[in-house]
Amino acid sequence: MKACYLMDERDKLATSQAALQWAASYLGELGVRDARMDAELLLAHCLAQPRLRFYLEPQRPITPAERERFAELVFRRGRREPLQYITGSQEFMSLEFLVSPAVLIPRADTEALVETALNWARIQPRSLRILDLCTGSGAVAVSLAHYLAGAEVWAGDVSAAAIEIAKANAERHGAQVCFAQGDLTAPFSGAVFDLITANPPYIARDDISRLEPEVGVAEPKMALDGGEDGLDFYRRLSVEVVPLLEPGGKAMFEIGWDQGPRVQAILAEAGFSAIELIKDYAGHHRVITATRP
Ligand code: GLN
Repeated sequence: MKACYLMDERDKLATSQAALQWAASYLGELGVRDARMDAELLLAHCLAQPRLRFYLEPQRPITPAERERFAELVFRRGRREPLQYITGSQEFMSLEFLVSPAVLIPRADTEALVETALNWARIQPRSLRILDLCTGSGAVAVSLAHYLAGAEVWAGDVSAAAIEIAKANAERHGAQVCFAQGDLTAPFSGAVFDLITANPPYIARDDISRLEPEVGVAEPKMALDGGEDGLDFYRRLSVEVVPLLEPGGKAMFEIGWDQGPRVQAILAEAGFSAIELIKDYAGHHRVITATRP
């Protein structure tokens, strides 16, 4: 009803300022966090102009056709579709990544995994063979290939749709990454790597319904569901990556903020040494690194 009323109101949204005010209050009422920012980003996307443009020119006229398209995007966001699935992209490690509902939206948290891998890789005496598992949009694999000259990067995902997106992202950034579709480590048996990274699904199954709708409803369950306690993939990885690592090779995984000690125990059980927990910008344990037994 509110939405219908607002549809009639659209005739009044003839400037960027008026359109943004409407969208921000509409989204705010529906419980969207950062409603004003999202309104600006959606209008910027819709008009293919930088967001700051609307500050320089608040009276920029919005044509009826533009208004129509903008309102459509705002209604989608109001149904709690993530902003990034509407605009189709997300920045990660200063690179622009294509996203679709087939992949998890790259998180700032995950930059901690990439930074940790880069820091280690840069002090190695030779160029590395790297494998990124559960690659999704390819954000981790493509960033590693982009920032590490000479590295040979492979990546896998169980989802064929995710692999398509990841390939498009590699191409977009001119990154040399070899992709393979299959169940976790299965496509890589027989190969050996110096470093294996992964941001596996790690949310405990019953917690998924308690997440924000943008995550719990809109993002792929397959990329979130870590089994009953959220740790299924660490139990598998701790065993399955061993034959794929050189002696002294490194495993580096993203983990949930409260999973550090439990994943540490899983890796210790599998014989890994030099197990370290690394914090993200928010001060939570976010990455675990370990050396192959
Ligand atoms: N970081 C994501 C979240 O908290 C989860 C990502 C994952 O399961 N790998 O929504």
